[in-house]
Amino acid sequence: MIVEFLPGAPREAVERIRTLLLTEGCDVAEVFAGRVVMLIADRHWQTPPLDLTSQVKANEWVADVRGLETLIPKVGGDALKPFAVRGFRFGGDDLALIAGPCTVETYEALLQTAQVARRAGAQFLRGGAFKPTTSPYSYQGGGEEALQALAAVRREMDMGVVTEVMSPAQVERVAQAADILQVGARNMQNFDLLREVGRSGAPVLLKRGFGATLDEWLNAAEHIAVAGSERIILCERGIRSFDPLTRASLDVSGIAAARTRTHLPVLADPSHAAGVRRFVEPLALAAVAAGAVGLIVEVHPDPESSVKDGAQTLDFDSFARLALRARAVWGALHGERHADLQ
Ligand code: PEP
Ligand code: MN
Repeated sequence: MIVEFLPGAPREAVERIRTLLLTEGCDVAEVFAGRVVMLIADRHWQTPPLDLTSQVKANEWVADVRGLETLIPKVGGDALKPFAVRGFRFGGDDLALIAGPCTVETYEALLQTAQVARRAGAQFLRGGAFKPTTSPYSYQGGGEEALQALAAVRREMDMGVVTEVMSPAQVERVAQAADILQVGARNMQNFDLLREVGRSGAPVLLKRGFGATLDEWLNAAEHIAVAGSERIILCERGIRSFDPLTRASLDVSGIAAARTRTHLPVLADPSHAAGVRRFVEPLALAAVAAGAVGLIVEVHPDPESSVKDGAQTLDFDSFARLALRARAVWGALHGERHADLQ
């Protein structure tokens, strides 16, 4: 629980609340944010006393009482704070576009995808070498060989690479082959992994778990930041819904809300949200309109033959069209800002 006092709250009021919290068995820390005093009370409640919050709130000098999960000093800034990865600024003037296959297949197909994606405006190439799969019998990714293909295309094209890392033990190796470490939706609260990617200092793309609240997502990012990496890109990829029409529901509300709670850039993955090709572009456009500063999209030279996620994967022409239209929405929304900067 975080108890925030009104500016100028007298010492006695703070002490009265502190004593109350200590009596309830909390660890209590006092912090100052400018002229505002906050008490941070932590405790594993056996049976949380229902009336404690209202007792604390009843004090005339208490401005607000919030849950501890709202304490995100490292990622909770107000205004969007752009940062660069390999020379490209996420949250800057240009819409970020990351494109590539669900999983790395051949070097040739990856290179061709990177070339076409770049021509369409993508700054980064994506492709999984380690795949989290619901079924243990489906393809688990090319592993080391796939990492080598990614690293080779990265060299050849001088293009940034994003790929998923699934376990703490893989972090060091994956960070050699890629520019951005992706933490997948299923691993959003794998705290050992979050700490390890944080410790590496590498930029991280943190997918939102499909059952995670905004607070849980931001706290996962806070774990990474506390461990040492503050270049974190959040990625909304659809949350679980009741309608099997789409694979997930792109949480456009979540994108808009995230923009008010964190200074981190928020991207959207319309491919995993849609699950089917024809919805990928409309979801991408909606995400940009809601405040996403970039998109990560599955693209393959021949989606029908894609080893994974073919049904939601775009061919080159469809991706080029999506990129064009997404940039048009971006320009309509942010054009003035650009003009001001020129
Ligand atoms: C992916 O991007 O390939 C992926 C598996 O995404 P998610 O973790 O969002 O399901
Ligand atoms: Mn996929």
